[in-house]
Order: sequence, then C-alpha cells, then structure tokens
Amino acid sequence: MKILIVEDEPELRELIQRSLEKERYVVETADNFNAALYKIEDYDYDCILLDIMLPGGSGLDILERLKSMNKRENVIIISAKDSLEDKIQGLDLGADDYLSKPFHLAELSARIKSVIRRHQHNGKLDIIQGNVRIEPDNFKVFVGNKELELNRKEYDILLYFINRPGRLINKSTLAESVWGDHIDQVDNFDFIYAQIKNLRKKLKEAGANIELKAVYGFGYKMIVE
Ligand code: CA
Repeated sequence: MKILIVEDEPELRELIQRSLEKERYVVETADNFNAALYKIEDYDYDCILLDIMLPGGSGLDILERLKSMNKRENVIIISAKDSLEDKIQGLDLGADDYLSKPFHLAELSARIKSVIRRHQHNGKLDIIQGNVRIEPDNFKVFVGNKELELNRKEYDILLYFINRPGRLINKSTLAESVWGDHIDQVDNFDFIYAQIKNLRKKLKEAGANIELKAVYGFGYKMIVE
C-alpha cells in the first residue's frame, strides 16, 4: 500500500512518514503544491494525506485536479484550518475524510485503514479471492485454513493483485506501488519477475486456486481458477 503525504511542515511530515513506514506502508512525500501536482499526475496512490494550505497553492486545487483526471485515490484532508466551509468544499470535491490538526497518529492510522477498507476491500476486514484470504491488519495470508509464509515484498505484491482481480497490471505500476515512485528510474524490472516467481511457487505449493498470469510484453493479471 502506497501513501502520499502532502504537507509542508517538515516536522509533521517526517513524523507521519516514520509512523506510516512502521506500519509497512510505502510512503512518498510532497512539501509544496507543485511537487504534489507532479506526484499525482505521474503516480498512483492507495491513499493521499492532503494539507490544504500549501506553499504555491491550495490542496483543494489538488482535489480538483484528481477529479478532472478521473483518479479515484482515497484522500484524507489534514488541515489546521478547522473551517466548516473548507471541510464541506473538500468533501464535495471528492475527499473521503477530514482530520483537523493537531491529531493523534493512532487516529490517522485508523482513518487510513478505514478509507482503504471502504474503497478497496468493500468494507470488509479480510480480503478474499478464491481460497486465499488476507488479513491486512496483521499482514497474514491464508490458503484454505493454512497460513502462508511470505516475505514482505511477496505479501505486498499479492495484496496488490488481490485488490485488482482480473485486471491487467503493468510492471512499472506494480513496481511503483510495491517499491516506491523512484523505481520508475530503473532500467529493467527483472527483480519483479524474481519475486513473482517465488510468490507463484509458494501459492502453488500451498494449493491456492488463484494464479498470477504473465501477459507477454505488458505485465501480469491475477485470475481465480
Ligand atoms: Ca500547510
């Protein structure tokens, strides 16, 4: 799961970043309006934490931009300006939640989980495809009733696919989500192939009835057999 923090106050930004990295999110940051615009135009995120008053512009315009690009990112506004008008405008523009500063990191974490659950997991705690079940709150995977041991990248890749069954996923999108935005600078994606190969092997040996199919020249697709 990849999160973008749009926040100009360095201490707060770094505090949130450290806290979310501990919770195993891939975290990207933007400290001003233009940097945020660049990020949302070039990359996809599972959740965006969006400050409103930014150097160079307003977070509300970032929301407008997301909307005009038809992006359906989960957005939580984090704002010091506790004005009802801002809140209403933000929610009208498609934000999913609004958290006034100062807030507790535990509350932020709960809100992030909640918006992701609502939009990506149909409101459910567990994510199920075929006989594979993921408990995202404690990073566990089960095939049938048996727990499947995965390394962190294998887990992140599986979660990514299981949230997007049947969809063609290109390698760079997958790599950006699991490794971070910087990965689009690499020359080739052989490292993905190695992780997927191991993941497939583990799924197969455990008797999973889902499969990660390679689509030549493009990427992968998860299917339920
Ligand atoms: Ca600010």
